[in-house]
Amino acid sequence: MYDNNNIFAKIIRGDAPSTKIYEDDYALAFQNIAPRAKTHILIIPKGEYTDIYDFTANAPTELQSGFWNAVRKTVEKLGISGNFRAVANTGAGAGQSVFHFHLHIMSDERFKTDF
Ligand code: AMP
Repeated sequence: MYDNNNIFAKIIRGDAPSTKIYEDDYALAFQNIAPRAKTHILIIPKGEYTDIYDFTANAPTELQSGFWNAVRKTVEKLGISGNFRAVANTGAGAGQSVFHFHLHIMSDERFKTDF
């Protein structure tokens, strides 16, 4: 069950701050508050989905394609398009702590800051 009081829902609503990297109608990419790599970005869809399973099972096709397009645009903007990891922790047992679907994008390359 999706709880719209989670921190990422607040970020989408503008009720909590974030350091934005990329945003469009479908998704928002922002810096992880506790990075575990030189570059550690989170990308979230603008929709109420708890995890990648919920998102891929239930989100409309337009939102799903818009989300993956935003992933591509984000890594291109960061300048890490050839060298990154994408991780979606799914379920508390796998380490998920925020139950709004998010993709971790991590790279040992520090992202460009001149955009
Ligand atoms: P997960 O454990 O996969 O659910 O990842 C949640 C991630 O969200 C963690 O890596 C946190 O550091 C990150 N996080 C939590 N709160 C915030 C926030 N307000 N802004 C940015 N990142 C956050």
